[in-house]
Amino acid sequence: MSAPAAAPRAQAFLGGRFVDAADARVSVMTHAFLYGTGVFEGIRAYWSDEDEELYLLLVREHYERLVRSARVLRIALPYDVGGLVDLTVELLRRCGLRSDAYVRPLAYKSTEGIGAQLNGMDDGFAVYAVPFGNYVEIDRGLTCGVSSWRRLGDNAIPPRAKVIGAYANAALAKTEAQERGYDEAIMLTEDGHVSEGSAENIFVVRDGRLLTPPPTDSILEGITRAAVMRIAADEGIPCLERRIDRTELYVAEEIFLTGTGAQIAAVTSVDGRPVADGAVGPVTARISGVYFAAVRGKLPRYRSWLTPIYALARGREAPAIR
Ligand code: PMP
Repeated sequence: MSAPAAAPRAQAFLGGRFVDAADARVSVMTHAFLYGTGVFEGIRAYWSDEDEELYLLLVREHYERLVRSARVLRIALPYDVGGLVDLTVELLRRCGLRSDAYVRPLAYKSTEGIGAQLNGMDDGFAVYAVPFGNYVEIDRGLTCGVSSWRRLGDNAIPPRAKVIGAYANAALAKTEAQERGYDEAIMLTEDGHVSEGSAENIFVVRDGRLLTPPPTDSILEGITRAAVMRIAADEGIPCLERRIDRTELYVAEEIFLTGTGAQIAAVTSVDGRPVADGAVGPVTARISGVYFAAVRGKLPRYRSWLTPIYALARGREAPAIR
């Protein structure tokens, strides 16, 4: 048997040690709580019944981005990328999950005090893991609305860094979308070009070609976005990073959102206008088919994306790829 049979426990790492997630608490006076001065990641792990294995997805890439985000907010991390990966493997092993999971690392200003500066503060690090299913409805396709809230710019709160406080912007957009009856928001840049969803990158299909906004259009440089670009290249689907106009959403052949939480989610309408015939399109279906097989360890080509938790913890080789 590869994975543990014991009851799973939500676990956290805080203050340099592993604790039950319920006991991982910080003070109400913590700077990051008062001012949003922290950065974070969201990482998924996928359970494979076939392999009896939990696969952590693109963990190194997520921690590399955490390092970049922390650099923007002048937060020092207690470990290098390799150390953060090892810690996360140990955390998941301690949880003993036999289901899909979500890992949330946070690096933050931990000083208990008033004053909105970044310098001269203590830095904290925490990470916890919980069982997790689908964050958005991915099977039927999403309805989206173009938000009246603009995506934050690089000279406000840099979207390239995954800053806790910036998610007030995402929350305003997502709430507005849902209250207007849509599933998700599509946000524009300050100068009115398509940027991204509230917590997803966006791809548009035109003339059989994938388009996605460039990193300079106020997007988070998504890990799933990069994975989709790699799959598109492998599948021979052309993909171009370029500015996208709002009305290109109304004439697109297909649209989909990508993200660790959302995974790959087709968009079937924008502002009440169906995308093409309103069904999930062939390019979206093809790319998501590859993606969902890859994340559960079914495709040798993408095996390097995965870190097997229980095989590593046992110090044994990962299961053979069929
Ligand atoms: N944009 C924003 C604002 C996000 O919060 C996320 C989720 N992390 C994404 C894009 C997608 O990024 P990733 O694929 O790395 O999860």
